[in-house]
Amino acid sequence: MKLEQQVALVTGAGRGIGKAIAKALAADGAMVIINYHGSEQKAAETVREIEEAGGRAIALRCNISDFNACKEMIDKVISEQGRLDILVNNAGITRDGLLMKMSEEDFDSVIETNLKGAFNCIRHAARQMIKQRGGRVINISSVSGVLGNAGQANYSASKAGIIGLTKAAARELASRGITVNAIAPGFITTDMTDALSESIKTSVTETIPMKKFGRPEDVAQTALFLASQEAGYITGQVICVDGGMAM
Ligand code: NAP
Repeated sequence: MKLEQQVALVTGAGRGIGKAIAKALAADGAMVIINYHGSEQKAAETVREIEEAGGRAIALRCNISDFNACKEMIDKVISEQGRLDILVNNAGITRDGLLMKMSEEDFDSVIETNLKGAFNCIRHAARQMIKQRGGRVINISSVSGVLGNAGQANYSASKAGIIGLTKAAARELASRGITVNAIAPGFITTDMTDALSESIKTSVTETIPMKKFGRPEDVAQTALFLASQEAGYITGQVICVDGGMAM
């Protein structure tokens, strides 16, 4: 139980990759805050599963694209838990479409959630981590942000932006003992990829050297490592968990 004294906040942790990360951190002893936006029931289920496995978790609603709401959420975590050691910026959305047909609203909403949401949480969490003289920030980017992806100009821009945000924050916070890294998953089986048609799933699988989608647990184990003491000298990195797509 290496994370026993630690408090972790995982955004979008009611389902998918965020849920798997929250469960992995809790299994290693962390008290985990399960942030959610729309899926209250799913967040409650995640808390119940963690508690049944002997871990500690609470659910907290917040729309991460709202700067002030993020401040309130993080202030609440600090006042109730006394500290914040690990921030996982996982929450994200897609609004796919070809560039020439993409609406301004679809572009803005993806940037506001995926990129600004991560900024909002880092902005408020870093103050506490600086006070504690240490912390771990783990941002969930995407292989789409590394390679670009047709039909995802908004999403690819947001995920490439997360990589820039990660590197800039890593440079600013390194001397304070805070590491900031990104994970770039490839295609992982969750609600997000379940929405793809069978023909797209088949053609995407052909482009993956390992010829299969990954599991949320594959990403969770990488996040667990980046949160650990053992990863203390790693910062500003982008780790692809993608079956070889972006090599
Ligand atoms: P998912 O199953 O669609 O879950 C998305 C999560 O984001 C949900 O928990 C959702 O919470 C949360 N969320 C969305 N908008 C939010 C907001 N404004 N405030 C707070 N939470 C919000 O997606 P996933 O596949 O697990 O993806 C998780 C992350 O990995 C995302 O950043 C995604 O871009 C990234 N990623 C996924 C893949 C993949 O293949 N699945 C690949 C690369 C990167 P509610 O349900 O409560 O609204």
